Amino acid sequence: MRVIVTGGAGFIGSALVRYLIGEMGYQVLNIDKLTYAGNTQSLLSVRSNPLYQFLHADICDAEAMGKAIETFAPDRIMHLAAESHVDRSITGASAFIQTNVVGTFTLLDAARAYWEKLGDTERAAFRFIHVSTDEVYGSLGPSGLFTETTPYDPSSPYSASKAASDHLAKAWHRTYGMPIITTNCSNNYGPYHFPEKLIPLTILSAISMRSLPVYGTGENIRDWLYVEDHVRALDLIATKGQPGETYNVGGRNERRNIDVVRSICEILDKLQPSSRPRETLIEFVQDRPGHDARYAIDASRLENELGWRAMETFETGLAKTVAWYLENDWWWKPLSSRYAGDRLGLREDLV
Ligand code: NAD
Repeated sequence: MRVIVTGGAGFIGSALVRYLIGEMGYQVLNIDKLTYAGNTQSLLSVRSNPLYQFLHADICDAEAMGKAIETFAPDRIMHLAAESHVDRSITGASAFIQTNVVGTFTLLDAARAYWEKLGDTERAAFRFIHVSTDEVYGSLGPSGLFTETTPYDPSSPYSASKAASDHLAKAWHRTYGMPIITTNCSNNYGPYHFPEKLIPLTILSAISMRSLPVYGTGENIRDWLYVEDHVRALDLIATKGQPGETYNVGGRNERRNIDVVRSICEILDKLQPSSRPRETLIEFVQDRPGHDARYAIDASRLENELGWRAMETFETGLAKTVAWYLENDWWWKPLSSRYAGDRLGLREDLV
């Protein structure tokens, strides 16, 4: 099996590359522009494996994408490259439109040129997996779940750009017949997560006894999925999923942000006792504009049709994640000097 992964130096992409090579034994070409979110250190365990190849390129570069796809001749393309941080999209939407919309279009068209030249058997077996987010569905009230037929209603420039990319992927299936599958997943967490997102930011701040910023009153609810459960789902969907269809991926782990932060404090207080309980470090900060109240995924299609189950509960996954950050400061410490001063990326006072 030959797989192109875009965005394979990012948080989910690197977990996917490690899984496809380490567990599945696939040949992988990772195409990544290495933005601030890309980190080849996350691929240390596979970088010297002969199954792994890397191309430093932008998915908006049509010529580079065409050449890479023709040369590598993949059985599958798994598209994860994106600008992914909602807060950054609010202060600078341009990169999000460029990478998430124009980049997805460029990649789809390069993949189409390659796919149309394949023989009948290879054309039918080829898969393009477009990896997206539940944020395209907008916000839920206190009850209900997102299903694959929930109407799109994105709130942020990030989710609007991902919604646009989903529509492009679906159009390339309906118009050209390409075997494309879209996945919409809830919030991921786990090792190698860039510390601008809630869970790693809280863990690293709490390790060094810094203040723990929480938006608004911390009531917003997210549905958390351990990243390794997500990547198993992606490979399963590529293998058994129906072309042209959408699969929601989620772990049935709805938690209020404030409770996530409190759980991290509790775990760390046990692992690294301190005279001051870490919960007292929580600081409520001005809410994010357009902050969606609640996301929750109904993953029953993926569970019933493809037999997927999340292997981690939120409690086991969070405990593993906190332990990983404690044991792997070689990975996150260098980020503090690279991004010091970039207050959106990593707070200066973090380490
Ligand atoms: P990330 O920000 O950690 O990684 C993105 C990667 O894409 C980085 O390695 C970056 O260098 C690369 N990249 C960015 N622009 C590029 C370009 N123009 N050309 C080539 N490479 C480029 O993101 P992530 O959290 O790993 O998310 C991966 C995908 O999964 C995204 O499409 C995101 O929308 C989706 N997703 C994320 C979550 C989540 O909770 N993190 C949930 C659901 C879906």
